[in-house]
Amino acid sequence: MIYFDNSATTEIDPEVVESMLPFLNEEYGNPSSKYYTLAETAKKSVEESRTSVAELINSRNDEIIFTSGASESNNFILKGISDYLYYEKKLGNHIITSKTEHKSVLETCKWLEKRGYKITYLNVNKYGQVDKDELEGSLTKETILVSLIWGNNELGTLNEISSLSSMCKDRSILFHSDATQVLGKIDIDVKSIPVDFLSFSAHKIHGPKGIGGCFIRKTKIGTKQKITPLIHGGSQEFDYRAGTHSVHNIVGFGKACEIAKREMNKNTLVLKDLETILIDQIRAIYPSSQINSHLTHKIPGVINVTLPGINNEILIRKLRNDVAISTGSACSLGEPSYVLKSIGLTESEIYTTIRISLSKFNTLNQVNSFINQLISIQ
Ligand code: PMP
Repeated sequence: MIYFDNSATTEIDPEVVESMLPFLNEEYGNPSSKYYTLAETAKKSVEESRTSVAELINSRNDEIIFTSGASESNNFILKGISDYLYYEKKLGNHIITSKTEHKSVLETCKWLEKRGYKITYLNVNKYGQVDKDELEGSLTKETILVSLIWGNNELGTLNEISSLSSMCKDRSILFHSDATQVLGKIDIDVKSIPVDFLSFSAHKIHGPKGIGGCFIRKTKIGTKQKITPLIHGGSQEFDYRAGTHSVHNIVGFGKACEIAKREMNKNTLVLKDLETILIDQIRAIYPSSQINSHLTHKIPGVINVTLPGINNEILIRKLRNDVAISTGSACSLGEPSYVLKSIGLTESEIYTTIRISLSKFNTLNQVNSFINQLISIQ
């Protein structure tokens, strides 16, 4: 099977599996237990993993919170900040996001809207990017949070997070970015980009499913941002998230981050090469094809392309035993993509659009074999 659906999830790295195994076997201690070695080993391993995640984005260790994944992180930041700043601190009730966020942001915003918050959904350009001026024009005295996706999961296009977050910082408005698709794939340095919160997930970077995290910035003097927890209970994760740590998953996530940091430059070069070959070949087979991803401001290896006259579902079904590609997000199957609608595609264009997303495990042979299959089923 040629797996080209790495934006949906990735193959777990064997080095990650190996790092997790002891914690599914003999190292079963609870990191919150005290004084005996089994618990201390678990605690030490959780903290080492926290360091690996922190090193990938250049944050402090105590700015990394483990969650069950990016959906939870997005829910936690959006609901938790809204609750704390509006209900507890009596500040504003306005949140700004965009029309092309992941469902875990959009559905949370809809839920907040029903509870009295005002949400502005920004438009995007034809590549899926938010306009800085539109954001500036939408900020009001009531705005408490701006949440904009870093790299779009359907298009692979990157938002200009550096300038968008700087604008919010200048106005003392908190800024969150869903970094699920970019963690480990592009350089993220929270010391130079003034985001307050990030969400991410392990299974997009060859780690296990059901584990992820968020970055929550501390002030220069180390003060914690108060956020109402999503999961109340014990004092794990600096009181932000209760529940016994999923130690094996956390260890796997830490290992995946360590590998991503080590291999990022090499992987980027290979993925860009494979992507260029794919784009050239697709254009040669389908001269009227249209690449919807931004060609430079993008996640390496992700291509969203419209192939006029080629129904995407029929194409995917024809290839299903040999190649895995996708029509877009695995989280909104069944409906025409709202992301593609937002960049201006017509319904017939949406039904002829596919997403190809590569990973470090893909090879030139696989790209050539996929191209040959496209030619043969034409
Ligand atoms: N945000 C984005 C941009 C995503 O692509 C995904 C996964 N499809 C999520 C959030 C949700 O991640 P998780 O599967 O870890 O809940």
